[in-house]
Amino acid sequence: MRGKLIVISGPSGVGKSTVLKRVMEQYDNLQFSVSATTRPIRPGEVDGVNYIFLNHDQFRQLIEEDQLLEYAEYVGNFYGTPVAPLEKALEEGKDILLDIEVQGALQVRKKFPDAILMFLMAPSLQIVEQRLRNRGDTAPELMKQRIERARWECSQADHYDYIIINETVETAANEVISVITAEKCKTKDRLPMFKED
Ligand code: 5GP
Repeated sequence: MRGKLIVISGPSGVGKSTVLKRVMEQYDNLQFSVSATTRPIRPGEVDGVNYIFLNHDQFRQLIEEDQLLEYAEYVGNFYGTPVAPLEKALEEGKDILLDIEVQGALQVRKKFPDAILMFLMAPSLQIVEQRLRNRGDTAPELMKQRIERARWECSQADHYDYIIINETVETAANEVISVITAEKCKTKDRLPMFKED
């Protein structure tokens, strides 16, 4: 069976990478889609693992060669999903997880109507802002932009199939895994297994 395309978005500061790391540890058969970006590498990040770090010309070339499933600008940098590894994983029956922002998620939905879209939220918008301010790895001006962007992203949650609440890492990871598990049990996917030739 072809794999499922799982998209997770959420405002900066919601704890998305921690939750997704837990999901990846607990759920087999899930491949993380490594995005390309023009944003500078952060301490602790590894090129080719967290992101493929590119300059603007290299990124533009990917766009021109139609190598990205989607791309978007986010707070002054470009981010995009390379299409080839994703197609390969889906063909091999692997589920693939995309950690992307809202504009990209909506582009994916157009191209893959069956994609599962989840929006990760903190228990409140105030908590998102507080977490963002506490992160301390962002300059004040950038922080302001990220907070504004976070507010806008939260207003877009109604485009998503599911809202996951990050009460704790465990509960959020469990919700994500429960959704994936339920989606894989859908009649339209399961019924063909029982059809006689
Ligand atoms: P960060 O710079 O904090 O790693 O990521 C900033 C935002 O970019 C996050 O919301 C993340 O989900 C999003 N993002 C990461 N990769 C992609 C991508 O390939 N496409 C899009 N549209 N957004 C991405």
